[in-house]
Amino acid sequence: MTSLLEHPRGAEPGKPGDRSAFSFETITRLPNTADGLGRDGARYGRTGIIHTPHGDIRTPAFVPVGTQAAMKGVLPEQMKELGAQCLLANAFHLFERPGEDTLDLAGGLARYMNWDGPTYTDSGGFQVLSLGAGFKKTLAMDVTGLKSDDVIAEGKQRLAFVDEDGVTFKSPLNGDEHRFSAEISMGIQHKLGADIMFAFDELTTLMNTRSYQEESVERTFRWARRCVAEHQRLTEARLGKPYQALFGVVQGANYEDLRRRAASQIASLDFDGVGIGGAIEKRILGQTCAWICDEMPEDRPRHVLGIAAVDDIFAAVENGGDTFDCVAPARCARNGAVFTRDGRWNIKRAQFKNDFSPIEADCDCYTCRHYSRSYVDHLLRAREYNGFTLATIHNERFFVRLLDEIRASIDGGYFDDYKRETLARFYANGSRG
Ligand SMILES: [Zn+2]
Repeated sequence: MTSLLEHPRGAEPGKPGDRSAFSFETITRLPNTADGLGRDGARYGRTGIIHTPHGDIRTPAFVPVGTQAAMKGVLPEQMKELGAQCLLANAFHLFERPGEDTLDLAGGLARYMNWDGPTYTDSGGFQVLSLGAGFKKTLAMDVTGLKSDDVIAEGKQRLAFVDEDGVTFKSPLNGDEHRFSAEISMGIQHKLGADIMFAFDELTTLMNTRSYQEESVERTFRWARRCVAEHQRLTEARLGKPYQALFGVVQGANYEDLRRRAASQIASLDFDGVGIGGAIEKRILGQTCAWICDEMPEDRPRHVLGIAAVDDIFAAVENGGDTFDCVAPARCARNGAVFTRDGRWNIKRAQFKNDFSPIEADCDCYTCRHYSRSYVDHLLRAREYNGFTLATIHNERFFVRLLDEIRASIDGGYFDDYKRETLARFYANGSRG
C-alpha cells in the first residue's frame, strides 16, 4: 500500500488538486425526538466519514491541537498509537515561525511533521484578533457572573485593529507589524497544505454590542466570499498539490437570527464544510449548533471550533457537530489535571504520593499500562518533560476514546443511554471540565 503521506489522493503532477478526493458520507443519523432542538424536533447528530487526500476521519471525531505543528511532548507516532485520527495546527503560529514557505517546500504540514493522516489549520483569525482583547481560549463560555473586564483585558495593550479589508496587528514574538486579510490567510493556508482549512472570519466576544455583532456577521460574509474566490484561484494555480477543503465559519454570538443568517450566508457559498465559531454561551451551545444545522445542507461536514468540556462535546455531537478541536487535554495535563470516567482531578494531590496504581484502572493508554500515579505525580512536580508526555498521552486518549464510544453508541442506537450514564458518572463528584 502506498503511503498517503507521500502520495496523497487526487494529487497529480501538473494538475490542480482533484476536489473529489474530499467528501463526506453519512452513516447513521440520530432519530428526531419531541425535544430535539432542530426544526421539527430534528437531532442533527450523526456518524459518518470525512474522506480527505491524506486519509479518512470517522466522525464524530476529536481533533487534537498541535499549535506549532507539534503536540507538546508527544510524537505524532504516539498520537497515532493512542488513536488520534487527525491533528489541527494554527496558521498564525506557523506563519510567524518557521513561515509558510518552509512548510510548502517540505511538502505541506502532514509531511513536515511526519503525521501520516489528515490535518487541519485554522485561519489565524482567532489568534490575530485575540491580540486585541484577552479572549478566553475556548468557544463555549460560562458567562454567569462574568464582567466585561474578564473578557476584554483592561489595560492590556491592544495589538489588533479590524477594518473592512482585514486586520493589522503587532507580532507578539517581535513587535513587527503585520496584516491579515482573506487573501493573505488563504495564501498562508494553501502553503501550509492542510487537508481542511478555515475561511478568515472576524471573531467577536459575547460582550460586543448587538449592532457590532450585526456588522461583524456581514463583514465575515464579505470576507468569506473573498476567501472562496482566492481559494479557487490558488487551487487552479498550484499544480500537483492535493485538494485542500475550505470550511466557512459561522459567527453571530448568542443571537438566533444572526446565527441563522450567518449559516445561510455560508451555505450559499461554495464551501466544502462549515466551522461553528465565535463565542457561544455554554448553556446554548447545543441550541446554537441546531440553529446552524437547520440552515445548512447535510452533506457538508461541520466542525465545532474550540470545545471546552465533556458535556459540551455531548451537546455539540447531539446537535450536529462532526469534529471538535480542543486544547484542554494537553494544557490540563501539563498542570497535572487528568480526565477520567469519574471526572477531572489533579494528580498532584498529596494522597497519590505512594499510590502505585495507574491514573485510571480501566484506561488502555500507554501511560496507564506502564506507569503509576506516584511516578507521574513525581515527574510533574519535578517539571520533568516525561511527566508532560505521560499525562498528555492519557488525556488525549481519554477524549479520543470518548468520541470512539459516542460514535459506537450512535451506530448502535444507544446514544441517549450512553450520554446519560457517562455524564452522570463524570460529574458525580462536582467535577469541572
Ligand atoms: Zn490512561
